[in-house]
Amino acid sequence: MKSNSLTRREALRGGISLLTGAVLVACGKKELRCFDTAGLTAAEIQNRTNLKYVDATPDPAKPCEGCQFYTPAAPDQCGGCTVLKGPIHPRGYCTSWAPKKAV
Ligand code: SF4
Repeated sequence: MKSNSLTRREALRGGISLLTGAVLVACGKKELRCFDTAGLTAAEIQNRTNLKYVDATPDPAKPCEGCQFYTPAAPDQCGGCTVLKGPIHPRGYCTSWAPKKAV
């Protein structure tokens, strides 16, 4: 009997996961990823690695969108950077992070 209720619970969880995925697909929403380095030179790719670029900042107080080198793009699009070539996530980070200068 207990295994039946566990099975129903698992089925319910699976159904919720499928429903969530279907809703995200239907809404056209997908997770923004800014890792595509196609078109970059080996040196530019190496520079991303050297500066430890990541799509998700380890320090919430230091996202790329708060960095003086960040170039924003349209909402839900990867931005750019004057230090690193290639797509940059607004919530990304690298070791060259510097706060935006006060205007
Ligand atoms: Fe992001 Fe680094 Fe560029 Fe600043 S320098 S925008 S932290 S990739």
